[in-house]
Amino acid sequence: VGVEEFRRMGYRVVDWVCDYYAGLGARPVRTDVKPGFLAGQLPPRAPESPESFEAVLSDIETRIMPGVTHWQHPSFFAWFPANASFPALLADLIGGALGMVGFSWASSPISTELEMAMLDWMAELCGLPASFRCNGGAGPGGGVIQGTASEAVVVAWLAARARAMRGRPPGDRLKLVAYGSDQAHSCYQKACRIVGIDHVRVLPASEAHDWALQPEALRAAMEEDVKAGLIPCFLQVSIGTTSSCAVDPVGGLAAVANEYGVWTHVDAAYAGSAALLPEAREHFGGLEAVQSYAFNPHKWLLTNFDCCCMWVADSGPLKEALSLTPVFLQGVGNALDYKDWQIPLGRRFRSLKLYFVLRMYGAEGLRSFLRHHTALAGAFAAALAADPRFELAAPQRFGLVCFRLRGASRQQSEALLAELNASGARFLIHTELGGRHTLRLAVGAAGTQLEHVAAAWAAVREAADRVLGEAGA
Ligand code: PLP
Repeated sequence: VGVEEFRRMGYRVVDWVCDYYAGLGARPVRTDVKPGFLAGQLPPRAPESPESFEAVLSDIETRIMPGVTHWQHPSFFAWFPANASFPALLADLIGGALGMVGFSWASSPISTELEMAMLDWMAELCGLPASFRCNGGAGPGGGVIQGTASEAVVVAWLAARARAMRGRPPGDRLKLVAYGSDQAHSCYQKACRIVGIDHVRVLPASEAHDWALQPEALRAAMEEDVKAGLIPCFLQVSIGTTSSCAVDPVGGLAAVANEYGVWTHVDAAYAGSAALLPEAREHFGGLEAVQSYAFNPHKWLLTNFDCCCMWVADSGPLKEALSLTPVFLQGVGNALDYKDWQIPLGRRFRSLKLYFVLRMYGAEGLRSFLRHHTALAGAFAAALAADPRFELAAPQRFGLVCFRLRGASRQQSEALLAELNASGARFLIHTELGGRHTLRLAVGAAGTQLEHVAAAWAAVREAADRVLGEAGA
């Protein structure tokens, strides 16, 4: 495909994207296809001869769209958002066009230097501790873009282990212990599996503290483990758990962890974007006491998937764990080489997305975007609180509202969710809190407005009428 052909196709694709967004609200959020739906719809093997762009593009509506869940739909309220924006999309196009693989400074200097600068910008916008700044690679700390929050946990774990194992006999590896709450994302336990940790503590979060892990529970577990001859090593703390957006008390937990020489990693995958808001900073206290912190601009900060910002206060252990430099990868002087801060060697030019997003929205634009969603979730929570048939299952935090039918059975709660999702006009999921089926409404698609949240609330009330047999009462 030549340059002029690409120009023509590129305009067609941009037209397609614009039409898609213009008509998105009218589509069902979700498709009702079943597993295996694509089988038999594609030719049995890849074509031997090239096919036309027109033929491939026409497949988008016929073969691709039927299987798409529209995450950018204004009535997508499931999981957490993964909101996208045109500035980030354009940056991805340019990054793809440059097609560079910036594993080291020398492999493409701008890739490393823009990433350091963007992580410093972001750290400042979020009010993160000065120890996390890259400062052009001068400090012991710094930031890096990982693909996902799950990768950040694995990387943090490897650094924690490198630090803990300094001066210890190799056999002590088998004694290392991980700590996290039963509300921590499953990436906590997955990281422990990947790293090969046998002792994985899943501590009960406190219902009385809105599902936050309490320092006393952590201390008790660590004391017990030390007495048993084990070595506490890694703690995962959450700011904004997936189930209910619970916020663990970072400072109190990290203080206990530091007493035991344990590495604290803070996972703020979704909620971390809210650190841009001064009024939400109360949830982010204590970060100066932790060793690593990560959040996903790809969730709630208009940065198309994937983009996870991770910071460490000291990159030394990270490099001890991950730096290997064969002769063909040898770098330039003491420049920062991001291959030593991540699992793969190759890496995309993700910082360009952040550059476009930060420049084109500005901090003010991003703050008002976050406030808009928080207010929409607040409006939903207020309507719910005023209807005696419902209860909030956890305080509304950020864009998330967790709710239940008061006194309802599990079957009724499941029926309510099924009713809500049946039309395809909107999409919510449920979680379990304290063993109870709980519905979640997560506001965060870029196009979501009050009308979509109001329609969701009307649908919740009507579905409750049917489930409770109150229709027409
Ligand atoms: N941590 C939390 C609190 C999350 O909510 C999620 C995903 O929703 C993750 C981690 C995993 O994110 P990722 O897909 O970036 O690994």
